[in-house]
Parts: sequence; C-alpha cells; structure tokens
Amino acid sequence: MPARTRAAKPVPGPTMVERAYEYLLTQLMSLSIAPGERIAIDTVARQLGISQTPVREAMSQLEAEKLVFKMPNVGYRASPQMTRDEVRDLYTLRQLIEPYAAARAAEAMTDASIAILEAIDRDMSSVVAGDARAYSRFAEADAKLHRLIATGSGNRLIEEAIDRLHAHLHIFRALYATNAPNEAAEEHRKIIDALVAHDPAAAEQAVRYHLERSQMRMDRVLAETTPTTD
Ligand SMILES: [Zn+2]
Repeated sequence: MPARTRAAKPVPGPTMVERAYEYLLTQLMSLSIAPGERIAIDTVARQLGISQTPVREAMSQLEAEKLVFKMPNVGYRASPQMTRDEVRDLYTLRQLIEPYAAARAAEAMTDASIAILEAIDRDMSSVVAGDARAYSRFAEADAKLHRLIATGSGNRLIEEAIDRLHAHLHIFRALYATNAPNEAAEEHRKIIDALVAHDPAAAEQAVRYHLERSQMRMDRVLAETTPTTD
C-alpha cells in the first residue's frame, strides 16, 4: 500500500518528557487531578507506558511552575488552589507591570512579533469551552500572548518578574469549565489589535481592562469554592 510506505517515514514526535508533561498538565488543568491530590510517579509511568525517569523530569518542571510540590516521604502532590488573598496580590502586581509593558511592546512591534501575534490569535479562536485539551491549548496561547508583551517591554527585569508568576497556569486551573475562554478571547482580541496598530495607549488600556475582568472571574469562582473569612 503506497500510503503506508509514505507514513513509515519517521516523523520526530514529542519526547517522553514532553508527553509526560502534557499529560500531567492537562490532568491538572482539567482538575482530573484535584488540588492537593497525591500524584504517584509509578502510576503515571504505567498509564503512559513509559519509564519513571521522564515522569520525574516532567514533575520537576511542574514543581518549578508551582503546580505540584514535593513532600518528604510522601512524594508529589498537586498544589492547592490559590486563596482569594493570594489571587488579589497576584493581580495587584500584574496591574502594576503589565499595562506598562504592553504600551512599550506596542511601540516596539516588529513584523516578526506581529506574525507571532497572528498565530496566537488563530490558536485562541479555535478553543471550545469545557474541552480539556482545547482548554490547555488556550492556556498555552494566553501564556504566549502575555510573554510576548513581557518580552516586548524591552526590560529584562519586567520579563523575568512576569515569567516567574506563572499566572496563566494557576488562573486557568481555577477557571476550568467556566465560560472564561470566550470572555477572555474578546479581551485578548482588543490587546492584539492595539499591539498590531502600534498604539501604546490602547494597548495599556486593553491590558488593564483584561486584568480587571480576569480578576473578577477568578474572584467569582473562588467565592463559590472557598469558605469566606470576611
Ligand atoms: Zn490573558
């Protein structure tokens, strides 16, 4: 069969570590692994039909992103959901940095970064709410957009500060299965339009609005899932 001969040509697939990472990230994002739940490395390795070494490596990556944490004599657990206070602090910091970064990025837009923005825009438009795999794709595109803004600021300290927050991962884990992707997609569109138009004031405004809305969505979800102390 000619088709099979063509298909036999080796195509480089994802590495074992990437497979393990993608798998665990999707489980964490879709809450199939609940916040605080124990994650057994040998079980994950068995489920994927791979050895424990790449799973361990994927775990270290997720640990650096604060999505899992290691406990002595217990192993790994999924991180607890952020508290309302932690979320408030996170957005306060983002509001101080990201609108400024967006304004600088809009001024510095190149043809290459516009091409990246268009690719991000396409990825985001293809997401259907509630689908776990599509959802983690959306989170990835969101991370790329915010990283492009951070890099575009031309300030390496700002870039590192935003990167270290890993905000997109935690936010998307909390907002899974809400209508957030649809709402956020519209806000992202405004940011992208302003960046492409080299309009610093509009970019700053669009990011500020997006962060305000995003914080409100988070707060709504957390109000339903965590006991209030006030
Ligand atoms: Zn966003």
